[in-house]
Amino acid sequence: NRVPLLAGNWKMNLDHLQAIAFVQKLAWTLKDAGHDVADAEVAVFPPFTDLRSVQTLVAADKLPIAYGAQDLSAHDSGAYTGEISGAFLAQLDCTYVIIGHSERRTLHGEDDEQVKAKTAAAVKHGIVPVICVGETAEDLAEQGPSAVPVAQLTTALEGLDASADILVAYEPVWAIGSGQAATPDQAEQVAAALRGVIASVLGEDAAARTRILYGGSVKSSNIAGFMREPNVDGALIGGASLDVAEFSSIVRFQK
Ligand code: 13P
Repeated sequence: NRVPLLAGNWKMNLDHLQAIAFVQKLAWTLKDAGHDVADAEVAVFPPFTDLRSVQTLVAADKLPIAYGAQDLSAHDSGAYTGEISGAFLAQLDCTYVIIGHSERRTLHGEDDEQVKAKTAAAVKHGIVPVICVGETAEDLAEQGPSAVPVAQLTTALEGLDASADILVAYEPVWAIGSGQAATPDQAEQVAAALRGVIASVLGEDAAARTRILYGGSVKSSNIAGFMREPNVDGALIGGASLDVAEFSSIVRFQK
C-alpha cells in the first residue's frame, strides 16, 4: 500500500528566508484545503542552506511536510571541500535526499557508480534516497524509453540490502523544464520496467513497497493522468513546486 508522494525539487531557488515564508504558506494552504497526509505525502527539497531553517519551522509547528536535500557526498567526513555528509543531513532530520538528478549527471558529471555510492551513503545514514533516472531525447530515439533508466537503476541498486528504504524517480531528461511532459502511458511503461528492476535486484517485497515517482513538466493540469497509472506513485516537481497555489493543487490532485 504505497502512499502517494508529491515532492517539490526547488533546485537553486529560494534562500532560507524565502523558504520559511514558503513552507509556512504551503502548510496554511494545505490545512485550509483540508488536506490529509494519509491521502498524499508532501515533501520539499530546498537548497542545503535552507535546511536548518526548514527543520526548525517544521519541528516547532509540527507541520505535516517532509523535507530532504538535493544531493549528498558519498563520504562520511574528511577533506572534501564543498561536500555535504549524509551524517549532517541526518542531524537536520532530513527524511529524503535526491540522488543522481539529471542536472547533477549532466552539469557535474555524476555517473552511475557515483550514484550507487551516494545511494549506499544515504541508506547508511538512515536517509531515504530518491534515485533519479531518465533517458535523453537521443537515448529515447535510439533505444526507446526504458533501456537507459533500467540500466541506471540496476547499477544504483547493486549491493543494497533487500530491506533498504528507497524511492525511485523516473525523469526523462527531455521532459525536465521543457513544458513537454511524458504521456501517462509512457511514464507507466517505464515505471513498470523500473519496478521489475527492483524486483530482480532487491526482491518482490521491495518492488511492491517502493514508490516510483514521475518527474518532468508536471503541473496541476496534468498530475491526475500520471496518478491514475498503477505503477506511478507520485511526482517530483520542479518549476511548478515554486508556486504555493500551483504546488498545493498538484498535491490535491483528483484521481
Ligand atoms: P520541472 O518540473 O521543472 O520540469 O523539473 C522536473 C525536475 O527536474 C524535478 O526534479
